[in-house]
Amino acid sequence: MTYSFDSLVEAVLYRFNCPNTDVLTNHYFYPVPVIAKHVAECPLCTEELETLRQFEDAVGHDDHKPIPSFLA
Ligand SMILES: [Zn+2]
Repeated sequence: MTYSFDSLVEAVLYRFNCPNTDVLTNHYFYPVPVIAKHVAECPLCTEELETLRQFEDAVGHDDHKPIPSFLA
């Protein structure tokens, strides 16, 4: 598979339209249809979202859970 100049330009234009990391992070927790549509078409954002997912998996979610009142 080779990359033509057109596909390179297209990739750059896609990136130009990309939501920033804050928006992507927010989308990860609270999915937004218009962002989901962009991510589905954009390999760069797909990759960024996957990196975020791996980070969240590594960190874990236990810290975000409220402490049950009987343990507090
Ligand atoms: Zn994008």
